[in-house]
Amino acid sequence: DSEIVLVGRSNVGKSTLMREITGHSVDTGQKPGVTRKPNHFDWAGPDFMVTDLPGFGFMNGVPEDVREQIKTDVVRYVEANADKILVGILVLDGKAAVDIIDRHSGPDEIPHDVELFHFLRDVDVEPVVAVNKMDKVDDEEERLNDICDRLGLYPPWQQWQETIAPISAKRGTVDALDEAVRHHLHEAGRDDL
Ligand code: GDP
Repeated sequence: DSEIVLVGRSNVGKSTLMREITGHSVDTGQKPGVTRKPNHFDWAGPDFMVTDLPGFGFMNGVPEDVREQIKTDVVRYVEANADKILVGILVLDGKAAVDIIDRHSGPDEIPHDVELFHFLRDVDVEPVVAVNKMDKVDDEEERLNDICDRLGLYPPWQQWQETIAPISAKRGTVDALDEAVRHHLHEAGRDDL
C-alpha cells in the first residue's frame, strides 16, 4: 500500500490539483485515453506514489466508445493494483457535480462518479472525495450535503470529513484533502510518511 490514485471526470481540475499537491506540473496535453505514467508524490511523504489516471466522461470531440474505454481502463488499473493502493481520490467539480449526477441518474443508469465511489469501496481502496472548485460554490453546506446524499452518505457532511474534502485546487486551498488522506495513512499505520 504505497500508492494513491486520482480519478475523476475530465475538466474537474485533476491536473491543477496534481500540480498543487506535488509541486510538479503534469502533462495536460496528453491525448485522451492515454494513461499517464505514475507521477511521484511528495505530498504525503517519501516513497509514496500518486497516479493520475485519465479523466473520463464527456470530452469535446471524443466519441462515446473511446470515453467508455477510458473508464474501463481506469477501473482495470485500480482493480489490478488495489493491493497497493491505499487511498483513491475521486475529484468532483463542486459547482457541477450534483447536476451531472442527477442528469445521469435513472432506472438503468448510474452516474460515473457514484459508480466510481462505490467501486473504490468494493475493492477496499479508501475513497476520499475531493470536492473541487468550492470557490465557485455559493451555499457550501448545502452543496456538500447534497453530494453526501448522492453518494449514499448520510448528511450532514461534517460527519464524513475523512471522506468529503472541500477544496479549491486553483486557489491552493487543499488542507481538507491533506487531512483526509493523512487520516487514512494513520489508520493504515503509515505514520512514518
Ligand atoms: P482536468 O481535466 O481534470 O485535469 O482539469 P484541469 O486541471 O485542466 O482544470 C480544468 C479547468 O478548471 C481549468 O480551467 C482550471 O483552471 C479550472 N480549475 C481547476 N481547479 C479549479 C478550482 O479550484 N476553482 C476554479 N474556479 N477553477 C478550477
